[in-house]
Amino acid sequence: MPPRFDRVAVIGVGLIGGSLALAGRAAGVFGRVVGAGRTLATLEEAVRRRVVDSYTVDPRGAVANADLVVLSVPVRAMAPVVAQCRDALRPGTIVTDVGSVKRYVLDAVEPLLPGGVSFVGAHPIAGTEASGVAAATADLFRGRRCVITPGPRSDAEAVSQVRALWETVGMKVVEMNPDQHDSALAWVSHLPHVLAFAASRAVDRHFPQAAGLAGPSFRSLTRVAASSAETWVDIFVANRAQIARAVDRFLTTVEELRHAICAATPEELRAWLEGSREAHQRQLRASREDK
Ligand code: NAP
Repeated sequence: MPPRFDRVAVIGVGLIGGSLALAGRAAGVFGRVVGAGRTLATLEEAVRRRVVDSYTVDPRGAVANADLVVLSVPVRAMAPVVAQCRDALRPGTIVTDVGSVKRYVLDAVEPLLPGGVSFVGAHPIAGTEASGVAAATADLFRGRRCVITPGPRSDAEAVSQVRALWETVGMKVVEMNPDQHDSALAWVSHLPHVLAFAASRAVDRHFPQAAGLAGPSFRSLTRVAASSAETWVDIFVANRAQIARAVDRFLTTVEELRHAICAATPEELRAWLEGSREAHQRQLRASREDK
């Protein structure tokens, strides 16, 4: 049975918050949606695009009487926003988030919430390098995976409502411990962003004239270097230990390939590359089976 949230507050009406507002409304699970944020122009655009019904720059006004509060600001901004509006939250409200790092958000947000307000963390693994409400679409989540990371204090009914919400907008939901989430995402999301930011920077630093000859391989490697720096500063800082570990291990593998290129026989190098191609095929199959 699909959930129903009559009054929804979306705090941070950008790509993800805006897309969830559109998807929830399209699926008929959201009634009235109030957007909250810090920039009037963004909020006015959200109303103009019919992403939200109304807006406020005061999160207290948005959360008072809400059944569901969605935190969709950068991960380090979530707790300060909750600290601003916690007094206006009423018992029975479910607070969820869409942040790309789960341990940091759980530890920062849950202790701030008053009794009777349940927090259920979520990470819809969907998105693009675009940001802002203009990039929001109702079908962003369809066919993708969402990880929910309940904490020790999450109410079972709230967990099942949040799960049902993401399923209703077309996602396959998995439940996971926040630390497991953060270590896995360090490899398959945060590391690719590190590589994209670093590759763009390295070419610019060492051989900027080569940019004119860049083809599809460079463009696909660096696509996500167009992502919002504000969003990614927070992800890198909030998951820095796991990301540093993944980068260290990655560098060891790059060093191994460098050695194979410089010192191995062509047959040995070929075997190394065949191993990577097989890993890539397995990874593609695994991500398709996940859907
Ligand atoms: P976005 O498009 O830049 O939207 C963020 C929104 O939050 C903007 O409307 C921004 O307002 C607002 N905001 C930022 N800081 C704020 C603050 N301190 N107080 C109030 N409002 C604030 O970013 P996004 O891609 O939707 O990311 C939002 C969350 O989703 C992040 O936690 C991110 O980790 C997570 N996420 C992102 C992706 C992805 O692929 N992009 C995927 C899954 C999850 P302004 O208009 O003033 O800038």
